[in-house]
Amino acid sequence: MPEPKFTETFAIVGTFVHSSTENPLIKLEDHCLGVADSKIVFLQKCDANLQTTLLDHNIAAESVIYLEDRQFLVPGFVDTHIHASQYPNCGKGLDEGLLSWLQKYTFPVEAKFADLEYASDTYSKVISRVIKNGTTTACYFATIDTDATLRLCDIVDKAGQRAVVGKVNMDQNSPDFYKEETTQSYRNTVRFVQEVLKRKYQLVKPCITPRFAITCCMDLMKQLGQLARTHQLHVQTHICETKDECNMVQKLFPENKSYTDVYEEAGLLTQKTVLAHGIYLSKEERELIKRRRSGISHCPNSNLSIRSGLLDVKDCFEDDIAVGLGTDISGGYSPSIMDAMRTAISTSNTIAMQRGPSYTPLDYKDVFRMATLGGARVLDMDDIIGNFEVGKEFDALIIDPKAPTSVIDVFENDTIEDVIQKFVFLGDDRNISKVFVAGRDLSLEKVVVEQ
Ligand SMILES: [Zn+2]
Repeated sequence: MPEPKFTETFAIVGTFVHSSTENPLIKLEDHCLGVADSKIVFLQKCDANLQTTLLDHNIAAESVIYLEDRQFLVPGFVDTHIHASQYPNCGKGLDEGLLSWLQKYTFPVEAKFADLEYASDTYSKVISRVIKNGTTTACYFATIDTDATLRLCDIVDKAGQRAVVGKVNMDQNSPDFYKEETTQSYRNTVRFVQEVLKRKYQLVKPCITPRFAITCCMDLMKQLGQLARTHQLHVQTHICETKDECNMVQKLFPENKSYTDVYEEAGLLTQKTVLAHGIYLSKEERELIKRRRSGISHCPNSNLSIRSGLLDVKDCFEDDIAVGLGTDISGGYSPSIMDAMRTAISTSNTIAMQRGPSYTPLDYKDVFRMATLGGARVLDMDDIIGNFEVGKEFDALIIDPKAPTSVIDVFENDTIEDVIQKFVFLGDDRNISKVFVAGRDLSLEKVVVEQ
């Protein structure tokens, strides 16, 4: 077979695995999916009508790619919460709880990004790494430094990844070496947003990013809320990650009914708001989040690694709140959403052991949907990505369970469900043989970004 050509218009024949709102795991064997101008133009059974469909879409025979035995296609992974700037600390410094961890490890590394060369080098490394791990869309925290955050946008754009990127705001309860004055913090954010919009990136959008209520005064958060409304921007922040943090927010904002109410008063809760963690939200707070249609990023690796707590995702599902997965580098030590899927299962299993047999934990199908369509819904992008619905952008991964050096052993009697489960529990970047974003093959070996 000649080397497949992923040109602007092509089709793929094989097994497709994706989710819908009703069904967390849909398997379509012996199907063909067509891509034209970055979008999915058809998805149908390989039957007698296929030739006509290919002709209708001007897809030549040499542009039809056939997946190999046991390979399958999944939607690209969505990482709803990742601190690109904390990547140098990935896999170290996990001996402190959140508030002291920020002071001891996190703020010092984020302060280094004032050096643009350091920023370029580090951001290139993290973008390369997460794309190899199948993250086609990411919601990035950068740092308080505007120019370095703009550099991150450039690097993401050049790499071809889909993303929302935020310049972090911090004007209180922060160390002198890593803190902004309130007016400057707002002005720099305006400059960041205007500059990103002016650059007209195809897939990169600016995001309003107050770090969390502890490090931002109400005046600043209100101005940021207004800025988000004016430009219809995404908002990302942290909420109810640890008990100490919740207690401190209560002391800092005694007038507010709850942590969530602080963000509500600031006008930061919208359909485009991503709230990371949410472990200690009350029922009332979840109802408010549901009313505002904001989403929650579940970051199980981080929650276990810095011992923040266990989020009961089932509570959020019962309240019809969108929940996606986040790596939360570097509170989480893994840059992989595949790791987030299985750690979400471990967390849910732990809750199930505490609750007893009447509790049904998340299974591999649930976390697969959270990693794809769920994440897209959290980012309010489920109308353009998240599954293989015709009309959506083609963000996808070719999964190869039998790749060289793969740690997955596939047996003859393994069904497609068995292979998917094995991938969820054992898969890593070696099993991701192609990464597509908006129909473009990101050619993994060429991801390293030149400045
Ligand atoms: Zn975080």
